[in-house]
Amino acid sequence: MANTYNVTVIGSGPGGYVAAIRAAQLGLKTAIIEKYNTLGGTCLNVGCIPSKALLDSSEHYHQAAHQFSEHGIKLENLQVDLPQMIKRKQEVVDQTTGGVDFLMKKNKIDRHTGVGSFVNKNTIKITDSEGQETEITTDKVIIATGSKPATLPFITLDKERVITSTEALELQEVPKSMIVIGGGVIGMELGSVYGRLGSKITVVEYMDSIIPTMDKTMGKELTKSLKKLGFDIKTSHKVTSVENTGNEVVVKAENKRGEEVEFKADICLVSIGRKPYTEGLGLENVGVKLDERGRVEVDEHLKTNVDNIWAIGDVVKGAMLAHKAEEEGTFVAEQMAGQKPHINYLLIPGVVYTWPEVASVGYTEEQLKEQGRAYKVGSFPFKASGRARASMDTDGQVKVLADKETDEILGVHMIGPRTADMIAEAVVAMEFRASAEDVSRMSHAHPTFTESFKEAALAATDNRPIHI
Ligand SMILES: Cc1cc2nc3c(=O)[nH]c(=O)nc-3n(C[C@H](O)[C@H](O)[C@H](O)COP(=O)(O)OP(=O)(O)OC[C@H]3O[C@@H](n4cnc5c(N)ncnc54)[C@H](O)[C@@H]3O)c2cc1C
Repeated sequence: MANTYNVTVIGSGPGGYVAAIRAAQLGLKTAIIEKYNTLGGTCLNVGCIPSKALLDSSEHYHQAAHQFSEHGIKLENLQVDLPQMIKRKQEVVDQTTGGVDFLMKKNKIDRHTGVGSFVNKNTIKITDSEGQETEITTDKVIIATGSKPATLPFITLDKERVITSTEALELQEVPKSMIVIGGGVIGMELGSVYGRLGSKITVVEYMDSIIPTMDKTMGKELTKSLKKLGFDIKTSHKVTSVENTGNEVVVKAENKRGEEVEFKADICLVSIGRKPYTEGLGLENVGVKLDERGRVEVDEHLKTNVDNIWAIGDVVKGAMLAHKAEEEGTFVAEQMAGQKPHINYLLIPGVVYTWPEVASVGYTEEQLKEQGRAYKVGSFPFKASGRARASMDTDGQVKVLADKETDEILGVHMIGPRTADMIAEAVVAMEFRASAEDVSRMSHAHPTFTESFKEAALAATDNRPIHI
């Protein structure tokens, strides 16, 4: 019957569209509902993909301005054309979201455009932008409605001078100065984009370190690199007010001595995190419970308290990451088809696409201390890597944490060139429960950045790195 499905997915971000594809692959008649005209959710439209496009463009500019002459390349009259950068970014977004469209058609997934809301546990109403309503019926539902930028109660996001990441991806002029509230991943990435293009960046962070949830060494090393880019980083500062005066933004904060300090800039980027998005879903009509932080409450199978409704991605507990949402999409679709999949949440890597890049998997040193676990540390700095010297990327290090007795790798934390890609090797090693010695005995092509992982593993095994 038309408009009757085995599975309906609400939200087309990396959680939702992957769940829909996997469900269709497993032979389930599948629908996907997305309120916007383009598929792909936050990640493809205003998150991962556009931010990486601007990070790449701005890094090219920064290298041209600061490194090319040392490489023996002379340039005259170098200029930033921000509208062109934003245009290229949009082309990348359009191609990528168009690709998801193609995948929906290829997998014979019915796409419905509009806000999806529960009428009852088997009926979903879709309201399009003109207010037209249609209803579909479904056996099972996956909520994949993602998240929205969070703010503080006293901040007015005017979207002109006081902005979120979404507006930061659309600026048409490089601001002379920018205050970034929040030293997390999104703030450091978008701060880097504009810092490289010439903005004076001031970061105001409540915790005592930037990227505070990662291994402390990473925050310290990233601070050093971002300071070289001209960042002024104020940690242990609690923001108390943000005011757009018309021609600038004034941010007041309390430092750790309890004194009031003031910062002024053209633009203030509020990047204090994201909050789950459940508005308009009509959860009250089916009695789906939320937890104390407004996330859809799920059990270990990602099932809600209603037996045919599951939830995945940013709208549920756990790291707000695209690849975490994707794994959960597959996990839920496979359960619906009667399979018994599993996810190892410890091995979901976290990456910050600054330059140098930061990438982590497994336990941090702080977590191991807290657990009282006996561990060994091996680290290797990129300045001792021939490959890193050749490309002038000598900031950072690889740190391997291994069990003191068994030598099993418990955590890998990297800051340096291309560590976003390098971390995959650590994930594979840890998934197979490798010891540091296992990695240290595997051949790594020379010269590559990956040799630094082998050297850090050698250092962790029994402190015998070769190249330092
Ligand atoms: C600037 C920025 C950079 C980021 N960079 C990275 C990165 O490099 N790597 C990474 O892993 N993560 C990154 N993230 C995080 C990543 O975008 C999210 O973790 C990911 O998008 C979550 O996927 P999701 O499927 O849960 O939800 P979302 O991608 O948020 O998608 C949810 C979708 O549901 C739709 N929706 C909501 N309610 C309804 C409704 N009632 N009816 C119909 N549709 C609805 C929304 O319109 C949206 O399209 C970044 C985020 C931002 C903001």
